[in-house]
Amino acid sequence: MSGERGAIEIVGLVKRFGDVTAVDQLDLSVRAGEFICLLGPSGCGKTTTLRMLAGFEFPDSGSIVISGRSMGDLPPHRREVNTVFQAYALFPHMTVAENIAYGLRQRRTSKQEISRRVGEALEMVRMSAMAARRPRQLSGGQQQRVALARALVNAPSVLLLDEPLAALDRKLSEEMQIELKLMQTELGITFVFVTHDQGEALSMSDRIAVMRDGKIEQLADPFTVYDSPASVFVASFIGQQNFFHGTVGDGRTVNTPDGVFSAGRGPDPHPGRGTKGLVAVRPELITLTDDTPDRATRPANVVSGTLASVAHLGDVIQYVVRVVGHEVIVRAPRSNAPRLQPGTSVQCSWSVGDTHLFEAEPSAAVPP
Ligand code: ATP
Repeated sequence: MSGERGAIEIVGLVKRFGDVTAVDQLDLSVRAGEFICLLGPSGCGKTTTLRMLAGFEFPDSGSIVISGRSMGDLPPHRREVNTVFQAYALFPHMTVAENIAYGLRQRRTSKQEISRRVGEALEMVRMSAMAARRPRQLSGGQQQRVALARALVNAPSVLLLDEPLAALDRKLSEEMQIELKLMQTELGITFVFVTHDQGEALSMSDRIAVMRDGKIEQLADPFTVYDSPASVFVASFIGQQNFFHGTVGDGRTVNTPDGVFSAGRGPDPHPGRGTKGLVAVRPELITLTDDTPDRATRPANVVSGTLASVAHLGDVIQYVVRVVGHEVIVRAPRSNAPRLQPGTSVQCSWSVGDTHLFEAEPSAAVPP
């Protein structure tokens, strides 16, 4: 177990509220200086986990060790952590500098020390020029930066962030994601960031803990979580997927109403013949053509359909193709996107290596 400043060790953490088990035997080791996201749908236990790290809630069982020190029932102000919430809760009658200095004043820090540390914190969040403004004179993003500075001024070894970008519009949120990541890398502080937004998690994290029903379903770096999801849940929660449901045939094949598809990836050993299964492929890995793919170069998985719509998503073009009983989403970079009209008969093709096989949830075997 690492006692390094900023390292976190969570073992067997459980928190119940009446009949609800919000956090269920959760284990997690966070390295000092790591940026980790707790990602998952509403109610999966992210915030409760964060609140136990902060000391606002106490576990029913299990342990939390931060920087080598057991948290036990230590109150929030005695932990080396600070929390930034979605609601910034800045004092409206105080200036930016006064807001940041508030906690230090309460602890009777000397004036000189306060001024130095507030100056540093303002610099970290690039808000030095706005020290004398009041919160109402700031944009949402600037207010969020003040809330960050207010936490950073205490020089925590761990910063806990609970959906801090949720109130910002998309463009501002994307800018803040870049800034937060740069800031975290520069400061070397451990960040534990709670979000239900997979884009935020993918863009900033060193590792993502994908949570479901109070447990971690997969813990891995963004590449692994995106390219090699451990379950259907992770595959569908992160990024977009096309799923084809059916029955597992020989090897890693699935017989579906749209055809037989082969998968290069999936559980080992693969689910038995006759098991309910599904294959998944990402929209950007499918090639769309209006003629039959050349047999010599033809990838193994092909489905025919009718192009239903074409949408411009900026640098990417998205196609919706109607196949038997459902739709297939295809994405292509604008520079390489085929010019096709809705109503055209098209072929979607993709390689076996890009195809994942999963057992259907809940797992139910059907007779071969
Ligand atoms: P969200 O994204 O909606 O905030 P979350 O993943 O952060 O969700 P939690 O807030 O940790 O989830 O909640 C986990 C479960 O525990 C939910 O079912 C929630 O209703 C329940 N819960 C959380 N706090 C309390 C509480 N104080 N009293 C009762 N139940 C609670």
